[in-house]
Amino acid sequence: MKSHYQVLIIGGGNAGLSVAAQLLRRNASLNVAIVEPSDKHYYQPGWTLVGGGVFDINSTVRDEADYIPSGVKWLKDGADKFDPDNNMIMTKSGDSITYDFLVVCCGAQLKWNAVKGLPEALGKNGVCSIYRFDTAPYTYECIKNFQGGKAVFTQPGGFNKCGGAPQKIMYLAADNFRRRGILDKADISFFTGKPGMLRVKEINELLLKVVKRYGIKVTYMSTLVEIRGDAKEAVFEVTKGESKERVTAQYDMLHVSPMAAAPDFIKNSPLAVKDDPFGWIDVDKATLQHNRYKNIFSLGDVANTGDTKTGAAVHKQTPVLVDNLLSAIDKKSLPDKYNGYTSCPLITGYGKLVLAEFDHDNKLLPTFPLDPAKERYSMWLLIKYVMPWLYWNRILKGKY
Ligand SMILES: Cc1cc2nc3c(=O)[nH]c(=O)nc-3n(C[C@H](O)[C@H](O)[C@H](O)COP(=O)(O)OP(=O)(O)OC[C@H]3O[C@@H](n4cnc5c(N)ncnc54)[C@H](O)[C@@H]3O)c2cc1C
Repeated sequence: MKSHYQVLIIGGGNAGLSVAAQLLRRNASLNVAIVEPSDKHYYQPGWTLVGGGVFDINSTVRDEADYIPSGVKWLKDGADKFDPDNNMIMTKSGDSITYDFLVVCCGAQLKWNAVKGLPEALGKNGVCSIYRFDTAPYTYECIKNFQGGKAVFTQPGGFNKCGGAPQKIMYLAADNFRRRGILDKADISFFTGKPGMLRVKEINELLLKVVKRYGIKVTYMSTLVEIRGDAKEAVFEVTKGESKERVTAQYDMLHVSPMAAAPDFIKNSPLAVKDDPFGWIDVDKATLQHNRYKNIFSLGDVANTGDTKTGAAVHKQTPVLVDNLLSAIDKKSLPDKYNGYTSCPLITGYGKLVLAEFDHDNKLLPTFPLDPAKERYSMWLLIKYVMPWLYWNRILKGKY
């Protein structure tokens, strides 16, 4: 089968559905298709609250079919190869599809295999992760059943989806232990590949106080390299100046946050940044237009927009991309620019949240006229009640 679309979108996740819906709202006569292999759509930010025992996992998944905008053709297949010189993609089932304009937003892959022993250990014997639909509920099992001992949490260096999530689940666990009166029996460690808690100075300072409050021991510049599930040992590579050393930590529960990179079919394609070990799509960070193929745009986790792998970033990128794409269709210059906005709704305990919003230069960009470097109950309510509703009812429908 061969078919042609004016706008072809690769990926019907947060970004793909938002772009399709906003495009059709702006111009209902566009001929748009989405290539998306999954029957299900996931509200991934909800998995942190599943891990904290606040949300039921089933509230985070819905049928993809119910969110494909009317007027958009859903091609239930996976993209496999790109031939940008001929404006064509090939799908996993062997079809060729041509386009006038291409939007690539197939998300990131999580590199579970990069840690020796992790795929085998995950989901049992205290090894958990909120980063998967099937293991997020087990995270709460681990937290709930913890009676004291060693609780270890990890954050990779490089990229991970939602920079704050590895810490949010740790603070929820620590607060759960506090509420159950066992915090003094908990030896909590945080091994992070970063040099600090968060790259924004004001928020970093606040998080250091939170860590102190729960008695969490932090090791910076450390990367999880191996899990020995039978021995309940996690091995980290810790960088100290020019040297690296291996540190082994015993655990009773271990929460793993995997590294993110572009999917292999993107990394190995002509669309990727050349020689980028992560393989992100080579876009202009402001216009979201491909640097070499001017009829290709990209946004969301797979685009090379920096450390902005969040739905919040997608929310700011979508109208920019839609403006620029519609102008490109009309052969006009690109009018809009993305400023690198991203947001970390940092849950610091049950009923406590710091809404950190910032740009590429770590400048705070608060939506609300409130001091952002403060834990607030109101922001917890925003994340627990308002954001899921907005996501399903407004964002995916191109109304917000
Ligand atoms: C545990 C966790 C907590 C998070 N917390 C927050 C938070 O609090 N706030 C926040 O803003 N963000 C958060 N995020 C990040 C947010 O979910 C992502 O940044 C957002 O979903 C990115 O949107 P996307 O469309 O780029 O990718 P996705 O929403 O992941 O969509 C990618 C889509 O591409 C499809 N796809 C994959 N391969 C192919 C292929 N070969 N061909 C076609 N389609 C393909 C997938 O099936 C999927 O539907 C969190 C993520 C996780 C995992």
